[in-house]
Amino acid sequence: MALYVKKFGGTSVGSTERIQRIAQKLKDAHDAGEKIVVVPSAMSGETNRLVALAREMMPGVVDLRELDVLLSTGEQVTIALLTMALKALGLDARSYTGTQVKVLTDHSHSKARIQHIDTDKIFKDLDEGRIVVVAGFQGVNSDGDITTLGRGGSDTSAVALAAALKADECQIFTDVDGVYTTDPRVESRARRLERITFEEMLEMASLGSKVLQIRAVEFAGKYNVPLRVLSTFEPGEGTLITYDDGESSMEQALVSGIAFSRDEAQIKVNGVMDKPGTAYAILGPISDLNIEVDMIVQNQAEDETTDFTFTVHRDDYEKVMDFLENRKNELGAKSISGNNRVAKISIVGVGMRSHAGIASQMFKALAEANVNLGLISTSEIKVSVVVDENYLELGVRALHEAFELESTPV
Ligand code: ASP
Ligand code: MG
Repeated sequence: MALYVKKFGGTSVGSTERIQRIAQKLKDAHDAGEKIVVVPSAMSGETNRLVALAREMMPGVVDLRELDVLLSTGEQVTIALLTMALKALGLDARSYTGTQVKVLTDHSHSKARIQHIDTDKIFKDLDEGRIVVVAGFQGVNSDGDITTLGRGGSDTSAVALAAALKADECQIFTDVDGVYTTDPRVESRARRLERITFEEMLEMASLGSKVLQIRAVEFAGKYNVPLRVLSTFEPGEGTLITYDDGESSMEQALVSGIAFSRDEAQIKVNGVMDKPGTAYAILGPISDLNIEVDMIVQNQAEDETTDFTFTVHRDDYEKVMDFLENRKNELGAKSISGNNRVAKISIVGVGMRSHAGIASQMFKALAEANVNLGLISTSEIKVSVVVDENYLELGVRALHEAFELESTPV
């Protein structure tokens, strides 16, 4: 019998009525012979509500041990309610908190990492025909203290459980019906992907496609857990995320999706010395400020100086500009310039590995759409360009069309 770990997000368990609908859905799957472990999130809005309560008690820095005790209650509510709903349908089911299972984590309250999951009780229940309901987002450390995994962490709970139980699939039920070739709000002809690889999903996810927590995708890739994203209440197969087995139809698709992010800013340090240590002198202190730098370009120097350009999240723009202005003399830079009205568009696909000329196909499509390109960067499975933010939608649609993403794959 196939074993599935099924995770339900906050909106899916947002009311008692919805919890009852999920219970019915689980009953159907159980009747069809599936072995099931369910991982619900807290009801939508609940974790935020609890965080706000904590802030009232401790303005400024909240005690993280106590915050975890508080936040873990959100999922404790939904596991109990869902189990009750299953029992009301005549099924045998049992709920467990992270501590009860136990989901052993390290000691980092509010961003704990899972170290081990005891599977004995879960397997015993499954063997006895029960549906097992495990609280997402929480664990327990070796001192017996409750920990939580960071916001959105129940995706990771589900994947970790699926890995520990060697489940056939980890199914993430959510309010979208899968992963799309691009954001359907920008391109209405965006198509749901039947399959995508872990690597592609990571690129899509880190570029703003927020269907899955990035950590959960990394975890699934590391432990080779097949992951499926699908809609809670709409029928459908969703999107399966797996390794590229070289046999599926996605091999033929050069580009699997177009990812983008709106909130980019670009900063240019002009006329710094072309000598060892320059990049470190500029970027070292920025990374010490905990600011993430994304694309980095240094052009070939014609004299003894060079220009150094990079992108950061728009929220960090002012901070980095101020910082560099203040250190301009120290760095020996002629000037610092920047633009915080830029966006990034990327084409993503494992098919690029074995095909030359994808980048030029991309540039051609953008040229025909009259989109001007700023920085360009490439990796094995991705080409990214920085564009004026006003050209983002136009660029995404042009690329979606050029790479024929709206059509059904052969
Ligand atoms: N309830 C937690 C949160 O809102 C965990 C989750 O939903 O995945 O972050
Ligand atoms: Mg969530």
